[in-house]
Amino acid sequence: MAIVVVGHKNPDTDTIASAIAVADLWTKRGMEAKAIAQGEIAPETAFVLKKFGFSAPEIVTDATDQQIVLVDHTDLSQSLDNLEKGEILGVVDHHKLGDVTTPNPLEMWVWPVGCTGTVIKAMYDFFGIEVPQNIAGILLCAILSDTVMYKSPTCTPQDKEAVEALAKIAGVADVMALGMEMFKVKSAVDGASANELVFRDYKDFDMSGNKVGIGQLEVVDLSMLDAHKDALQAEIEKVKADGRHSVFLLLTDIMKEGSEMLIASDDASVVEKAFGKAPAGKSIWLDGVMSRKKQVAPNFIKAFEG
Ligand code: MG
Ligand code: MG
Ligand code: MG
Repeated sequence: MAIVVVGHKNPDTDTIASAIAVADLWTKRGMEAKAIAQGEIAPETAFVLKKFGFSAPEIVTDATDQQIVLVDHTDLSQSLDNLEKGEILGVVDHHKLGDVTTPNPLEMWVWPVGCTGTVIKAMYDFFGIEVPQNIAGILLCAILSDTVMYKSPTCTPQDKEAVEALAKIAGVADVMALGMEMFKVKSAVDGASANELVFRDYKDFDMSGNKVGIGQLEVVDLSMLDAHKDALQAEIEKVKADGRHSVFLLLTDIMKEGSEMLIASDDASVVEKAFGKAPAGKSIWLDGVMSRKKQVAPNFIKAFEG
């Protein structure tokens, strides 16, 4: 049975592209592997896969009896069901180390860079395996997506170098034009339900025993969301009521380089603790905040610690 390579729930472009690329790498190293996904892909990812000729990976949500490589996450709350009933062979990631543990030794490729795609480019180089042209295309899109076209504070020089090298392989002449095209697709919110929008890029965290959800919508202009805000607020209240302490939704303006955060919480004082600023009603503008991973989740983790 093939090894399965899987990213986090509510898959984003990095999670899908990385699963496809790592499955290619593992297979070429002599260990047959295939990419799977834990859910439907988002419009941005659909655009990227179509552009480079891939179809969406099969959806699988249970780890029982599988051999698994995790990409783009190591948090149990973001991983397959029954993970302890599978065997984790490897991890390729760029997040804080989560709470996944293994009884056996494993291969770990975890770097503090802007995207799993950047780590994977280095893996191809390490093993002396050529990056296929179409995989170079999806990896470079993943890096542009995760780093918000280099604007996110998570972006490192390695990410830019990886994009430059991958662009040559993929034959992409104007990387930034491709990035803008991709973010325009990502920004399209009309026709999507509030529930779809909240969960389009959403993660649950365990923060000192509290279940906390943080979603993010990245748009090229925040005013596109004006007509949707009330419905989004009502939706995160609903999601919170389903067994969570808090749900936060970041509405990120990639041009203004900041986020409006919508708040649904049993104790909204955690917001002031996390950001040193009291929210105005049920939302707060966070200037310069683009990254859930680097500028939001760690602040809340600390705030919940006390
Ligand atoms: Mg991701
Ligand atoms: Mg990522
Ligand atoms: Mg992201």
